[in-house]
Amino acid sequence: MRVENCKPGTKCIQAGWEPKKGEARVLPVYQSTTFLYETSEQMGRLFDLEDEGFFYTRLQNPTSDAVAAKIAALEGGVAAMLTASGQAANFYAVFNICEAGDHFICSSNVYGGTYNLFGVTMKKLGIDCTFVDPDDTEENLAKAFRPNTKCVVAETIANPALTILDIEKFARLAHSHGVPLIIDNTFATPINCRPFEWGADIVTHSTTKYMDGHAVSVGGCIVDSGNFDWEQYHDKYKGLTEPDDSYHGIIYTQKFGKLAYITKATSQLMRDLGSSPSPQNAFLLNLGLETLHLRMPRHCENAQKVAEYLQNHEKVAWVSYAGLPGDKYHELAQKYMPNGTCGVLCFGLKGGREVSVSFMDKLKLAAIVTHVADARTSVLHPASHTHRQMNDEQLKEAGVAPDLIRFSVGIEDAEDIIADLEQALAQV
Ligand code: PLP
Repeated sequence: MRVENCKPGTKCIQAGWEPKKGEARVLPVYQSTTFLYETSEQMGRLFDLEDEGFFYTRLQNPTSDAVAAKIAALEGGVAAMLTASGQAANFYAVFNICEAGDHFICSSNVYGGTYNLFGVTMKKLGIDCTFVDPDDTEENLAKAFRPNTKCVVAETIANPALTILDIEKFARLAHSHGVPLIIDNTFATPINCRPFEWGADIVTHSTTKYMDGHAVSVGGCIVDSGNFDWEQYHDKYKGLTEPDDSYHGIIYTQKFGKLAYITKATSQLMRDLGSSPSPQNAFLLNLGLETLHLRMPRHCENAQKVAEYLQNHEKVAWVSYAGLPGDKYHELAQKYMPNGTCGVLCFGLKGGREVSVSFMDKLKLAAIVTHVADARTSVLHPASHTHRQMNDEQLKEAGVAPDLIRFSVGIEDAEDIIADLEQALAQV
């Protein structure tokens, strides 16, 4: 029985590390920067990408690679690479196929850090990003494409706007313009949505969130479906289809086929930029992944109860949670995530921004933290915190209302989370 063919729960536990006789049952931490070879020639072949193997943890490490393989199996991809953070994953995912003079398209409803990275920092590298409204018509969205557009990026469930992406619409648009669709699947996780099944080509994650699940390690991941035909657009993706001078003229698509994109990301970007995860963090991430299939349903169940409670409370002005019938994104969520979306919901209180902010200070169980999407219930006011650098217009574009409270429902008992909300609401 092959683990790749098993169900997600089995993959969470067993994929990526399949020990042989006498080897450690549990994935070990290979806490080593370097790996030993017997001859100089053996080592040389690794540097030429002629042989597979580990030589330096900045590029590859057995612990990290086993965890990457587990995530690839969960997403249904051909290969994956771990990064030191979700930011690094999103940067590498785009930078692997874009260079100065290129352009790409991104949904405006993305995590604030991604918005900055794409809109400000990458602009300084000469790479231009156009932000688009993900709910716009295909006809209007098509107008954003230029001859030098190299990819389209969006989040399955936007943080914190909670927009549910019409993945098929975005895949159609990207493919009809000859570019891949990159999806940040952080909030949904492959337990609730596998974007490759809906036409996405590359998936990224901030593994810092549900995958780690315990708020102990920052990390990221890029997964390749292996489906995008780079050679069909040879001239557009010369970094993959023409010789790489920094690797003795290797042509990634010719040498590595479906693994071209991830091999380039590892052997070129990771080599040169070095945002590699520590093996210890990869080990911790693996522990988180082992219970992802148990935690996600509980997050969704709890969030549904909290959303229903808030919706019926007289002091609550609005609630956004795709699990609520009548929510703007309910239908899309039913299509793409029939088993639930995630544990994050947003709401605002009557009285606006000031009341919302003072309410947060009254919460006892739910902690005010920047983090989101882990086992503990947490709360944040994006306009004052993660999106603080945005002006009102940018906030609107990012789908962040000034009174928006982001509430990340954990896996405690729902009754206690609701009791905490109740006592805080009674005080405002
Ligand atoms: N993508 C999404 C959807 C996020 O929510 C975040 C962080 O909140 C990131 C990417 C960035 O990830 P990290 O904080 O691990 O760098």
